[in-house]
Amino acid sequence: TESLSSRDPELYATITGELGRQRDEIELIASENIVSRAVMEAQGSVMTNKYAEGYPGKRYYGGCDWVDVAETLAIERAKQLFGCDFANVQPNSGSQANQGVFQALIKPGDTILGMGLASGGHLTHGAAPNQSGKWFNAIQYGVRQQDNLIDYDQVEALAKEHKPKLIIAGGSAIPRQIDFARFRAIADMVGAYLMVDMAHFAGLVAGGQHPSPFPHADVATTTTHKTLRGPRGGMILTNNEEIAKKVNSAIFPGIQGGPLMHVIAAKAVAFGEALRPEFKSYAAQVVKNAQALADELMKGGLDIVTGGTDTHVMLVDLRPKGVKGNATEKALGRAHITCNKNGIPFDPEKPMVTSGVRLGTPAGTTRGFGEAEFREIGRLIVEVVDGLAANGEEGNAEVEAAVKAKVEALCGKFPLYPTL
Ligand code: PLP
Repeated sequence: TESLSSRDPELYATITGELGRQRDEIELIASENIVSRAVMEAQGSVMTNKYAEGYPGKRYYGGCDWVDVAETLAIERAKQLFGCDFANVQPNSGSQANQGVFQALIKPGDTILGMGLASGGHLTHGAAPNQSGKWFNAIQYGVRQQDNLIDYDQVEALAKEHKPKLIIAGGSAIPRQIDFARFRAIADMVGAYLMVDMAHFAGLVAGGQHPSPFPHADVATTTTHKTLRGPRGGMILTNNEEIAKKVNSAIFPGIQGGPLMHVIAAKAVAFGEALRPEFKSYAAQVVKNAQALADELMKGGLDIVTGGTDTHVMLVDLRPKGVKGNATEKALGRAHITCNKNGIPFDPEKPMVTSGVRLGTPAGTTRGFGEAEFREIGRLIVEVVDGLAANGEEGNAEVEAAVKAKVEALCGKFPLYPTL
């Protein structure tokens, strides 16, 4: 019966501190979002107490009647949202969703073909330090030097040369739409499975603002917490019954034990929200806001990789201003604008330095920012970057303080979780 604040004031302070940070800062990390109170309520519910190894109707534990209903709601809503026949909503994360597909479809030592980290791919797509890079013969494709777009000719050449069992499309810093039909054609040439990791843009697919991986992909994986605006977690989708069966056994008992039923309940809530018409407007606004922000940054003298974005994310090339990604992330942080340094394709700087920052609009758009606000944010970013350019890594404290005040005013106009 004791509340968290009285039971554990030390931990409670971290939550109120984090709430304050989220309220007072502009969140531009492209992989983050702001979930509804309803999603948080489901995630903070008694569902966390329940063991439910297995799947709805086929559990290894008693007492699963209600969690069965919750998981079935999540599955049915996911299928409706993405127009597919099978969904596994149990992966604890995007990484585990990808691991689950590997476990289902390939064996250690098999060849996989994914996008390299330096070009915008994800660690789990075959990067050397990741299990996917250690356990498989991971071949990596990239983007073209002349326009930083996916090099489909290279994908085809590497596929023909290495005959991968699985080809992965998708990544963490890809600002443009992916040609799924081309990936399908390449996969068919060499008899490979095609997996689309839509973690970043799943919400845009759900909201009708991005082509769907289906019918081209054999299997699609996603996180549920980025543009899709659900709790942290993963999911696997397919139209192929045989793959679905293999995926189910791969997730449980293959790589996971008891599913996180409180998270699955929250996924069901988020998918229900994404099925509403408002989510379509949200997804459309995310893209419009990203285009407005990119445009304003270019007006301010920064380069945007590929010259803009079709999605929620952009990569800012800071080289025209002569500043680095790490220093920019810190300077923007001092002004209460949160983002992450990010390598740009063919980046001459080390990964801990970088020549770029990655910016995204999902969280700000949820907060209520429109194009006018994102244009203002673009101008504020340019002010901070110009301060860095003129003063070195220390930045310009006066400019940063003035920007911070404007950020606070903007945040004040769009209150976050006002009833918490
Ligand atoms: N796949 C892609 C494309 C991602 O961007 C991410 C997250 O950064 C993941 C997978 C992994 O998701 P998680 O952090 O939930 O393991």
